[in-house]
Amino acid sequence: VEVCLGVDVGGSKIAAGFVTRDGDLLRHEWIATPRSEDPEELFDALGTVVGRLGAHEPDPGRGDSEASDRRAVTCGIGCGGPMDLEAGTVSPLNIPGWRGFPLRARVRALTGLPTALDNDAKALALAEGWVGAARGRRNYLAMVVSTGVGGGIVLDGRLVHGASGNAGHVGHVIVEPDGRPCACGARGCLEAEASGTAIAAVTGRPAAEASEEVVIRCGQMVGRAVASLVSALDIDLVVVAGSVALGYGVPFFAAANEELRARACLSFTRTATIVPAGLADKGPLVGAGAVGWTGSGATVLGVVR
Ligand SMILES: [Zn+2]
Repeated sequence: VEVCLGVDVGGSKIAAGFVTRDGDLLRHEWIATPRSEDPEELFDALGTVVGRLGAHEPDPGRGDSEASDRRAVTCGIGCGGPMDLEAGTVSPLNIPGWRGFPLRARVRALTGLPTALDNDAKALALAEGWVGAARGRRNYLAMVVSTGVGGGIVLDGRLVHGASGNAGHVGHVIVEPDGRPCACGARGCLEAEASGTAIAAVTGRPAAEASEEVVIRCGQMVGRAVASLVSALDIDLVVVAGSVALGYGVPFFAAANEELRARACLSFTRTATIVPAGLADKGPLVGAGAVGWTGSGATVLGVVR
């Protein structure tokens, strides 16, 4: 079976796995992202996790039939932004050791596979539209509310890239005009108010231990940002992933939807809803797989199965 090697690069871990043409995630591995300023040490970690997967060599020692007839034909990378999609270089806010790092070319050299790169939240948007909670939908926003806040926009059945490939940075929609300073340099961005990092900084505890009050405020901030976005984009579905949002669960989604309904009052925004992502922790790697398959000319959105 032909598979795509998906690689997901995040601030806390680097994961790699094989994704089939139908969006199934097969064998996968992960490694902690080194807390290093050395770009090569970071890339070595990526090489280690890909090596463990046996991506660029056969698996003679493995008896399973899946491994013996599996063949990686393409590679897709999801990575934190911002990035220069044309150049294939990344400068993730949460990985200070990589600034203008030529990730696409380096992974291509490592694996020998045709390699495509995109923002991790845009990759997740592809995954959710392919085999997740937005399957079959032509207009939606996928968001990640985790240590940071990211997003990917699909309009008219297509992933939106924008002038520099960075469309969907919804974490930097302003939700509190006089709010906390953001890593981007602005103030009161959604990411500075509702990300896991922001919640931990404000409460002095890990985001997972937040009080009900903090959970509800986090949902309200997300709903507030979404209210502006659905009006601007004419989107009726918002799919939210990420450890913070999914960890908070029902009260978070109730607060987000209540805030959305209170603030999005146009006729075409009244039916918009915010729902949990469908792929949970598989989303990032399935998304990287979607980036790879899309890069090789395949279609993942709007495919009826
Ligand atoms: Zn910001």
